[in-house]
Amino acid sequence: FGSMATNKLNRSNSEALYEKAKNYFPGGVNSPVRAFKSVEGSPLFIKKGDGAIIWDEDDNEFIDFCGSWGPLILGHNHPKVYAGIVAALQNGASFGAPTRLENELAELILSRNPFIDKIRFTSSGTEAVMSAIRLARGYTGRNKIVKFEGCYHGHSDSLLVKAGSGLVTFGNTSSAGVPEAFANETLVLPLNDSEALKSCFEQFGKEIACVIIEPIPANNGLLLQELSFLKELREICTQNGALLFFDEVISGFRVAFSGAAEYYGIAPDLVTYGKIIGGGLPVGAYGAKKEIMACVAPDGPVYQAGTLSGNPVAMAAGLAQLTELSKPSFYEDQERRTKLFTDKINSHAKAKGYVFELVTIGSIFWISFDNSKHIHAAEEINPDMTNFKHLHRALLEEGLYMGPSGYEVGFISAVHTDELLLKAAQLFINALDR
Ligand code: PLP
Repeated sequence: FGSMATNKLNRSNSEALYEKAKNYFPGGVNSPVRAFKSVEGSPLFIKKGDGAIIWDEDDNEFIDFCGSWGPLILGHNHPKVYAGIVAALQNGASFGAPTRLENELAELILSRNPFIDKIRFTSSGTEAVMSAIRLARGYTGRNKIVKFEGCYHGHSDSLLVKAGSGLVTFGNTSSAGVPEAFANETLVLPLNDSEALKSCFEQFGKEIACVIIEPIPANNGLLLQELSFLKELREICTQNGALLFFDEVISGFRVAFSGAAEYYGIAPDLVTYGKIIGGGLPVGAYGAKKEIMACVAPDGPVYQAGTLSGNPVAMAAGLAQLTELSKPSFYEDQERRTKLFTDKINSHAKAKGYVFELVTIGSIFWISFDNSKHIHAAEEINPDMTNFKHLHRALLEEGLYMGPSGYEVGFISAVHTDELLLKAAQLFINALDR
């Protein structure tokens, strides 16, 4: 795919900035995937975004399907979000004291979300998950947690753990600097595997504080789980007194207002949010029913805090964004437009006999070079990502910006109109046909 390059991009300004950045930051970046290591070329430095369009420092223009990795469900520079941020900022950037805006955002979320009674705002998804894991342990008085291979939950120690060999395994650390003792408390299972799940609970049932899953796994390909598996998770957690923890940092406010829990109709005990909840500013959150949240400080013994937690400018951005999402048929329309885009590309690929598919749910899509069912980790399906590398460059040259990793998903925003998506689908097809 995309082997014959045309419209070669001028990257000279981005390249110069990247050379400088390498003197300042490890790998020239402040988050590893941005370094373009798994695709061709060097990172594009983005200058500006408006609606569904972004411009880089060489004034190349792209239709953006990364959306800052998910938060920008209303696109860049949305007038309501912009106005909310400016209004809050005029009163000051931060107080480290309660503000009315925290109440308003919490009220909007809790009034529409049947799964949680209380919420705590943090400054990132990682922080939300890390804190919620501590809460699960504090609430249950147990230490072990279960996670699934192919799910990403941020970079806290307990979760930078990958599967060992065998069906039910103690994890191995997937980063230097994580003590083995931490990894030993994390059990890693294959996704959608009911036998492995049962066997794990038979061995460790009474030691497990929680089972954490991305209910829509979207960090290692888009690995849609069978509904029966998610239901089984719910049951086995209940039977064993373990908490079911849905990490909805991507799926929350993305597939439905109350995330995958609402989409699938399954009630988790603990939920985390991030990305969309902050309207493009740094916000994460965790929530649960009253009796669980009663364990959190200052009400209870599980400590968690943050200088900038509930920051008023970030709360205003989240409030403005979530207000738009709570309007009728927002999610139906997102899904309809996403299908317009993916169906056009998929039909073309099928007619040409390409081993290629855009896998989709809600307004999320993933580029797959495999036509079988996608349930297990993407590394198994597509170990070297050569096809993705070539296609990624061709897509950039056609004017479509996708995140620089074949394991990550793409996102469609409310300002990707029918017209723009049909145009983008044609550009995508051009890239595929090269
Ligand atoms: N959980 C999930 C499911 C995520 O996708 C991510 C980030 O992509 C995180 C947690 C971590 O969030 P953050 O990058 O805001 O720390």
